Amino acid sequence: MSITRQVRVGSVLIGGNAPIAIQTMSTFSPVDTDYAASQINALHKAGADIVRVAVPDKKAAEALRDLRKLVTVPMVADIHFDYRLALTAMESGIDALRINPGNIGKRENVVKVVTMAKEKHIPIRIGINAGSLPEHILNEYGGHPTAEGMVAGALEHVKILEEEGFYDIVISVKSTDVPMMVKANRMLHEKVKYPLHLGVTEAGTLYRGTIKSSVGIGALLLDGIGDTIRVSLTDDPIKEVKAAKEILSSVGLQQYGPVLISCPTCGRTQVKLIDMAEEVERRIEKFKKPIKVAVMGCAVNGPGEAREADFGIAGGKGTGLVFRKGKVLRSVPEAELIDALMEEIEKYEKEGE
Ligand code: SF4
Repeated sequence: MSITRQVRVGSVLIGGNAPIAIQTMSTFSPVDTDYAASQINALHKAGADIVRVAVPDKKAAEALRDLRKLVTVPMVADIHFDYRLALTAMESGIDALRINPGNIGKRENVVKVVTMAKEKHIPIRIGINAGSLPEHILNEYGGHPTAEGMVAGALEHVKILEEEGFYDIVISVKSTDVPMMVKANRMLHEKVKYPLHLGVTEAGTLYRGTIKSSVGIGALLLDGIGDTIRVSLTDDPIKEVKAAKEILSSVGLQQYGPVLISCPTCGRTQVKLIDMAEEVERRIEKFKKPIKVAVMGCAVNGPGEAREADFGIAGGKGTGLVFRKGKVLRSVPEAELIDALMEEIEKYEKEGE
């Protein structure tokens, strides 16, 4: 594992030894400024470190100025082809650009963008998508998208920026094909020191998309590859942020508040465990401390099986147990079990305040 170069996106550091930054994308145009602002603020509150916004035209680029005043989270302007939009976005206070310098025409256009980005300390993300590799790359690499082609495509854009003396670069090589995306990032990690933004693109709806993203992003993070991530879902972007947080916590990199552990249930279960687990999951969201909370189906094995949990409950017929680190704290009527668990966690949250 090698340490990448560090860049700054507003108040957030990416690369080097910085924590993995969670990104998502607003579903509103900056032109719908109030809607975009309230969504972006909600995404920030949910845990997004950086939010990307699509900037399809001049109006959108100009609207970034008002949007900037309404949100504090760093924003990335997503721009295709038109270098003038990049200039306007930077003048409007954007914190980073996602633009491919090879797609913005003449060299002098690149120079204009790079000059302003340098002046304003704005990094540029080069984003390669397997589905939109240029003809010459496809021809060179067998006529269809490949990891090798994605890497070659990314390096072409990198070279353009480096030739202008610009190095505040982040790279993404995304594909909807998980093995291809993993391979491309591994190859890129060997070749460059720039921070990598990981994502499985067009991953799908909540269930499938979360699994695909977890496998692709998770495999790379476990190898020490990746500096910032986006889970891409056909769903509310709040769910992208939640999934990203779960991925980071599953690979042991960051834990955001409590995590739920629950047993799969078996023939010993005598309570409605699925409902109980869902309720506990909902109610522990408000806590800040990174604790593990267990919801187990039986009082005989539950406390022992969930010994690693900081707090937990185990259901029984009519009565259940509240336990901490495998030790039973109290026995309470089933109907009061979740409230009793919350009380214990609340007491613990207040400790050291
Ligand atoms: S905790 Fe009890 S109910 Fe849950 S899987 Fe283990 S033995 Fe079965």
